[in-house]
Amino acid sequence: MRFERLATDGRARLGCLALGHGQIDTPAFMPVGTYGAVKALDPTDVATTGTQMILGNTLHLALRPGLEVIGRMGGLHAFMGWRGPILTDSGGFQVMSLAHRRSIDDDGVTFQAPVDGRRFRLTPERAVGIQQELGSDIAMVLDQCPSYLAPREEIETAMRRSQLWAERCRRAYGDGPGALFGIVQGGVDPDLRRRSFEALASLGFEGYAVGGLAIGESAPTREAVLDALIPLLPEDRPRYLMGVGKPADLVAAVCRGIDLFDCVLPTRNGRNAHLFTATGVVRLRNSRYRFDESPIEPDCPCPACRHHSRAYLHHLDRIGDPLSLRLLTLHNLTYYQRLLARLREAIRTRCLGECAADFERQQRSGPAVR
Ligand SMILES: [Zn+2]
Repeated sequence: MRFERLATDGRARLGCLALGHGQIDTPAFMPVGTYGAVKALDPTDVATTGTQMILGNTLHLALRPGLEVIGRMGGLHAFMGWRGPILTDSGGFQVMSLAHRRSIDDDGVTFQAPVDGRRFRLTPERAVGIQQELGSDIAMVLDQCPSYLAPREEIETAMRRSQLWAERCRRAYGDGPGALFGIVQGGVDPDLRRRSFEALASLGFEGYAVGGLAIGESAPTREAVLDALIPLLPEDRPRYLMGVGKPADLVAAVCRGIDLFDCVLPTRNGRNAHLFTATGVVRLRNSRYRFDESPIEPDCPCPACRHHSRAYLHHLDRIGDPLSLRLLTLHNLTYYQRLLARLREAIRTRCLGECAADFERQQRSGPAVR
């Protein structure tokens, strides 16, 4: 992995991240392909949105279809037909989200599979081994992400455990072939965040992720954590804010120096006819759009906006035609990728402050209904 910073504006960075399966422009947004598919889209569709890199979920893929299948098919890239880079998570997030289905100790975590109740053991070594078998360009360390509402003591215990696991992941990953990122934990406490980062830095990772956010905290709380943590992170390594978020959250985090994002929001919301536009959200299920001849967003180059009216897309959603899932997902991902492209251009021309102010002003104006 090679990371080159091409320009900066304040703390924001424009960069180029070169990985085994290609280069990506940063700041970048990765759609989530939980089971080896960005739901409702094929890889060609995904690429037309401007997406350069996607995220796969280690635990889910290890359960379905399982490593035996993906391994025999030549790895995750070949299996799903995606030629660009892939980042895989480690299963750490599911340590929290499947809290009622797992038991955790210092050695690892045992899950009960959501589908068939099978027991599945994940240790730091196993999490890294699976990601290597999948062939991910960027693998993540196994971490324990405590609930946002957990008491400090619990957050500190999770942080210590995450450090031990990070050490074991680093050893198990060795020299690659891809890159391994450490994950800074520590809740919303600046001191815990600092200690977590310092422990990781002593192990030396190719990049650093900020974990344990986007799990219910307010935007100002999240931004305060970033303000305290980011100045500590090395300038020459990519920084990844896991699980964030809404368009406004991305703008705020790019301004604070984040390079990589992933979130289910554009794809999940797209499937629910909740559409992002420069002038705010269009809730296409609303009957006000029944006779609306205009596209979702006039200047959007996606197929939904180029060829169809809101009225038609409203109709497709109402009758539950699978075509609406594809078209509305394409729109939302195109919106996210164009927003990131606009932010990258603003960093290059050093007008990110104006761009962010303009973004906010436009969002407040609200979408027009015809
Ligand atoms: Zn569109």
